[in-house]
Amino acid sequence: MPEFLISLTNIVKNYKTMRALDGIDLGIKPGVTGLLGPNGAGKSTLIKLLLGLVRITSGTGNILGHDLGSHGRQVRNLVGYMPEDDCYIPGMSGVEVVQFAACLSGLPTIEALRRAHEILDFCGMKQERYRIIDTYSTGMRQKIKFASAIVHDPQFLILDEPTSGLDPEEREALLARVRMLWTQCGKSVLISTHILPDVQAICDEVVILSQGKIRLNESLSKLSQTKSPSFSLRILGNEETFVKNMKQNGFPNLPNSEGDLVFESNDPRLAEIIWNTARESETKIHSMIPARNSLEEIFMATVKEATHANS
Ligand code: ADP
Repeated sequence: MPEFLISLTNIVKNYKTMRALDGIDLGIKPGVTGLLGPNGAGKSTLIKLLLGLVRITSGTGNILGHDLGSHGRQVRNLVGYMPEDDCYIPGMSGVEVVQFAACLSGLPTIEALRRAHEILDFCGMKQERYRIIDTYSTGMRQKIKFASAIVHDPQFLILDEPTSGLDPEEREALLARVRMLWTQCGKSVLISTHILPDVQAICDEVVILSQGKIRLNESLSKLSQTKSPSFSLRILGNEETFVKNMKQNGFPNLPNSEGDLVFESNDPRLAEIIWNTARESETKIHSMIPARNSLEEIFMATVKEATHANS
């Protein structure tokens, strides 16, 4: 497998006088990559450029073995794209929409129908696939968009805000399917989202874009190492004994202004140790919340730094 599926060198994209992308150098590895950035960062422009839908102003790049800006049609056959906005023809049933997407990629009608059913099964769509799409809930429409993006068996998937508007179960199911596409089918994915926990749940790599520049491109595991896991707790029962036993086990309580108990450690067994100590101390855990999301902290700090640098 090549080290990078996509590599971009010094890409600039201007819309008249507006510079949307400002010297992008980026390599996207096989796996699941999260693309984060505030509104106006240039995420959509970057996606359109990868799909060959907008022309670059300058720079060079390669996407799945094709020069960026050429062979747009071939690239689009290798890439599945799930746009943020709804895109369906009113009056069609769910299965017809997915079949239509398969036909657009060149499959004959019957084969396209067979693929559409196969993919809708994978997406957990039951008899509702025969209903007119106009009557669907947001979650069902997201499933149809997702199915349409993967029906032609693309090598690489670009998902734009795939979980927006989903309820927690639907979100979890969709993320699990995306992860499965990589782990079981070897499909690489670029997922653009505002929902940081989505990135944390399924991504291997994180790219942060702000004001048209790449501000961070790092593996999630490396980023997570930058901060030790920590938990904020409330205890029912003899808190003093619990704190004393945690200290004896090598985990002193950190100062906290909100009256919670906070424990931080590099030890991956920290959560288990907290539960065991609570049991030994004959106390109960009332609440146990992971301390502030480190990816959120990294995102906020990166974007803030970029804003300062440009002001
Ligand atoms: P994001 O997807 O991160 O919100 P976009 O790529 O949509 O960012 O936009 C990046 C910048 O380019 C923004 O300032 C936006 O206003 C501008 N822009 C995007 N599309 C166009 C366009 N077609 N014409 C002019 N400016 C545009």
